[in-house]
Amino acid sequence: MSIPRILITNDDGIHSPGLTLLAKALEAVGEVWVIAPDRERSAISHAITINHPIRMHRLRERVYICDGTPADCVLLGVRGFLEDPPHLVISGINRGPNLGIDTNYSGTVAGAHEGRLCGVPSFAISLNVTKTEEKLHFETAARFSSQLAADILERGLPDDIFLNVNVPNIPFDELNGVAIAKLGQRIYRDVVVRRTDPQGRDYYWIGGDPPTWAEDEDDDFHAILQNRVSITPLGRDFMKEEAFESMQTWTLANVEETLQ
Ligand code: MN
Repeated sequence: MSIPRILITNDDGIHSPGLTLLAKALEAVGEVWVIAPDRERSAISHAITINHPIRMHRLRERVYICDGTPADCVLLGVRGFLEDPPHLVISGINRGPNLGIDTNYSGTVAGAHEGRLCGVPSFAISLNVTKTEEKLHFETAARFSSQLAADILERGLPDDIFLNVNVPNIPFDELNGVAIAKLGQRIYRDVVVRRTDPQGRDYYWIGGDPPTWAEDEDDDFHAILQNRVSITPLGRDFMKEEAFESMQTWTLANVEETLQ
């Protein structure tokens, strides 16, 4: 490979400082292309746009604004918008963590997932900050991304996984190493809050307190609390190999009776 091409997207939108710092850091590793949503698309998961056209707007050389989702950005980029497909897709740096089951909702994670589905090694990267935190160490995650990118470009990734990376919000020199971590088990979080608008109609917020987590020293949440960068391998699809095996022996009496 001569100069590797790296495609970057995110779900916080084109103007997010996390995206800007990520793109800048990756210039040391390869030729960086940015295709990012024109607005925040957090929690949009893996949605793609199929019922209306998607517009691209060139902002400057190799930087494009897209009115679609993070998955749209990557799908378009890899499957035709870019003349030559990228060697690596990176999604982030998200403002806020993507730990445990939250990976299911994340547009950031979906951007990397789409890269993997399009046949390109990919990772998602997120900074562990709360909504109200003011000091943001995006530079820590950007620097880590450039090193991880170089490693992946050197050694490759198995074609059935992509990586979910979470970085503590601390200076780079204070990082306490890297943990290959499982997805943590969230115990509790979403609460539906009902309120009344000025016209007297009910409306709802999905919200509630910050999550609490099951204690597990192997998981991503624990790694972050130890000031370690957490890396979790995620599967390209939802199929569960062990269940595929064990279900062969199940008896589904009602189903079998119906189909006889
Ligand atoms: Mn986001």
